[in-house]
Amino acid sequence: MTRLFNDPTSFATEAREGFAAANGAYVCAAQGGVISRTPAAAGTVAVVIGGGSGHYPAFAGFVGPGLAHGAAMGDLFASPSAQQILAIAKAAENGGGVLLGYGNYAGDVLNFTTAQEWMRGEGIACESIAVTDDIASAPPDHEAERRGIAGDLAVFKIAGAAAAAGIPLDEVARIARHANARVRSFGVAFGGCTLPGATEPLFSVPPGRMALGLGIHGEPGIEESDVPSADALAGRLVEVLLGELPTGIDRAAGKRAVPILNGLGSVKHEELFVVFRRIAELLERAGVQLVTPQVGEFCTSFEMPGASLTLVWLDPELERLWLAPAESAAFRIGATQAEYATARQTDPVGPEPSTHPTDAPTVASAASRGAAPSVLASLEAVHDRIIDAAEELGRIDAVAGDGDHGIGMVRGSRAARDAAAHAVAAGNGAGTVLRCAANAWSDRAGGTSGALWGLMLRALGDALGDREAPDAAAVASGVADAVAAVRQRGGAEPGDKTMVDALVPFSRTLSWEVTAGAPLAHAWCDAAAAAETAAAATATLTPRKGRARTHGARSLGTPDAGAHSFALIAIAIGKTLRKDNR
Ligand code: ADP
Ligand code: MG
Repeated sequence: MTRLFNDPTSFATEAREGFAAANGAYVCAAQGGVISRTPAAAGTVAVVIGGGSGHYPAFAGFVGPGLAHGAAMGDLFASPSAQQILAIAKAAENGGGVLLGYGNYAGDVLNFTTAQEWMRGEGIACESIAVTDDIASAPPDHEAERRGIAGDLAVFKIAGAAAAAGIPLDEVARIARHANARVRSFGVAFGGCTLPGATEPLFSVPPGRMALGLGIHGEPGIEESDVPSADALAGRLVEVLLGELPTGIDRAAGKRAVPILNGLGSVKHEELFVVFRRIAELLERAGVQLVTPQVGEFCTSFEMPGASLTLVWLDPELERLWLAPAESAAFRIGATQAEYATARQTDPVGPEPSTHPTDAPTVASAASRGAAPSVLASLEAVHDRIIDAAEELGRIDAVAGDGDHGIGMVRGSRAARDAAAHAVAAGNGAGTVLRCAANAWSDRAGGTSGALWGLMLRALGDALGDREAPDAAAVASGVADAVAAVRQRGGAEPGDKTMVDALVPFSRTLSWEVTAGAPLAHAWCDAAAAAETAAAATATLTPRKGRARTHGARSLGTPDAGAHSFALIAIAIGKTLRKDNR
C-alpha cells in the first residue's frame, strides 16, 4: 500500500525531483532522469543505466563516482522513453562513448536499442548490456531471455569501475557482458505491491504462502509453497543458486563470490540479516569464499514483501573491478570494504557475557546446597507459568506499553532456570544459585522488567547467602530487600501502577505471617493471594512510571503487566513450596 502521494500520475516525476533534491552531492536533475555530479573524465566511457521507477535504489541510487554517470528514469514500472535515454546519454557522454545498462524487459530493450541507434546515428559510440540474472525467468538454454533483477547492481558496478579505469568502450562492454554471465539471482515474494492511487495490489499471493521466482513487476512465479522459516528460505535460495552455476564454473567449492541479499521493498533489514546468517553458513559450508556480502535493498518492487539472493561469481578481473571504490546515494564500496573483502566475524569480540556473579564463589554449607534444588524447582515453576501466560502478558502490555512483556519474561525466566540448573549441578548453595539466575535473567530478558527481576533475585540471593539453610525469616527478609531494591532503583511508589503495587503487599503479608510463626509455604501462599488482589486492583490506576505512563488513560480497566506477572509467579512458587513441604 502506498500512502503518500499527490496526483498518482505525477508520482514518479515528483519522486525523481525529491531524490535529486536530497542527493545533490551525487546527482543533478536532468531531462528524463539524473546525471552524475561527477562527470566521466574526458575521453572515458560514460555508463548510463535506467529503467522504470518503483525499483529504488535501482536505478538513480547507483549514479555516482565509480558507478553510473546517469540514469534514465521511466514512469512506475515502465521503461524510460528512447528520448529520455538519449537525453541522459548525451548529457553524460564525455568523448569516450556510452555504455547503456538496463534490465532485460521488452519495453526497456525496445527503448534502449532505439536510443543506441540514435546515438550511433549522431556519431556517438554506443554499446549496451541487458542484464539477465533472474534464473527463474527462463531455463538455462534460454539465458538471453531472462530478466534482470538485483544482479543489475553487480553488472553496473563492474562496468562503472572499468569505465573509471579508462578502459575503452568495446572492452567495457565485453567486461559488462562477462559480469552479466557470472551473475545469478533467485527471488521469492509473500505478497504483491499496490501502486500509488491503486486500490488493489498488482497481484497477490495467498496468505501464508510464498511465490518462488516471482518477477519484480508481479510476473508470475514458477512455484508456490508455504512461507518457510528464515533458515529454510536461506536453504532454498542457496540450493537453487548452487544448482545453476554459470558456464565456466564447474563447482562452487573454492570459488569467490559476492552474495547480495536483496529486500524487495517491505522486508526489514533485521529479517534479511536473520536469513543471511544462514545463507553465509551454507555458502561457506559449500566451500564458497564470500567477498563483501551485501544485505539490504538494491532492486525493489515498490513495497513488495519478498527477497532475492544474487551470487556474483568473481574471477580476478571482476573482483578487482567490483572492489574498486565507488560512491552513490545507495551504494558504496570504499577502502575498508576492499581491505576486509572476505572478513567474517564468527566469534563474538571479547569474552562471552557471563551469567555468573563476579564475586568470588563462597564455599556453600551442606544445608545451603541442600536447599538449592528447591530454588531450582521454584524457577522451573516460574518459567512454566510464564510460558502459559506469555500471550496474555503481551496483550496486557500492549494496551499502554509496547507489548513485549510476555516475550521478555519468557526469555528471562528461561535463562534464569537454565543458569540455576547449571549452578545447582556445580554444587552451589541457594544464594549463589539465585545470583546466577539473577544475572541470567537481567542479561537475557531485556526491558525494564528484566532489569528489575535481575535486581530482585540478586537481592534475595545476597540475603540468603550460601551458609545457612534459608528459613522462613531469611526468605521474608530477603524478599523485603528485593522489594526495597526495586523501589530504590525504579523510583516507583505504590499507586504508580507498576509491579511495586503487587510487591509491597506481598512482602508485607509474608513478613507479618512469618513473624507470627506461620510456616514459609503457608505465609507465601497468603502473600501471593495478596499480590493477586493488589495486581488486579491496578486496573483502576493510571500509570505514572514506566513506558505505560505516556498512554496512561488508555490503560484504565487493564491491570499493570508487571504486577500481574509478579502475582502469577508468586502463586506458582507458592504451589511449589507447598509440594516441597509434603
Ligand atoms: P518495558 O517497559 O521495558 O517494555 P516490560 O514490558 O518487560 O518492559 O515490563 C513492563 C513492566 O515493568 C510494567 O508493567 C511495570 O510493572 C514494570 N515497570 C516499569 N517501570 C517500572 C519502575 N520504574 N518500577 C517498577 N516497575 C516498573
Ligand atoms: Mg513492555
